Amino acid sequence: MRWTKEALEYMNNVPFFVREKAKKKVEEWAKQKGVEEITVNEVMEARGKMTARDVSDPKPQKPKIAVVRCHIVSEVCPGIGCFNSFNKREQQFARYGPEAEIIGFFTCGGCSGRRVSRLIEKLLPYELTHVHLSSCMLLDGDYPRCPFKEQIKKTILAKGVEVVEGTHH
Ligand code: SF4
Repeated sequence: MRWTKEALEYMNNVPFFVREKAKKKVEEWAKQKGVEEITVNEVMEARGKMTARDVSDPKPQKPKIAVVRCHIVSEVCPGIGCFNSFNKREQQFARYGPEAEIIGFFTCGGCSGRRVSRLIEKLLPYELTHVHLSSCMLLDGDYPRCPFKEQIKKTILAKGVEVVEGTHH
């Protein structure tokens, strides 16, 4: 498959550890469309297709989970409650079998969840299936519950990924 110089340069924006995989995806997409030379336009169009899971994609074989947690609470919480609950398959993780994996654990980036969209996109090529909103986002305690929860949830659902509310409560 031919690539223009500009398209190859554009791909340098993709992190190096997923760049080859992303290039293959663009080439597969271009082949399906009968495109013979990949320009920046093709890359951007393919990227648009890849940043949301296509409902016709085959369902991934095993649950691959990410946990989004509150940036403010992360100052005082190393995440032990979430991991303990996952390791024992308790509370909101009781639905999974031993084959489930946590593939991402990150904070929202601060109000109003500014980095959730970008980080979910980064995990889509790794067959992310579920995103848990950590219990710290949902409960009123030392910190108030997240006022942006619904907005964050919509952002994740729009990527074609299931959302589960809670981790260890
Ligand atoms: S958006 Fe919600 S989860 Fe994120 S820092 Fe603000 S209150 Fe916490």
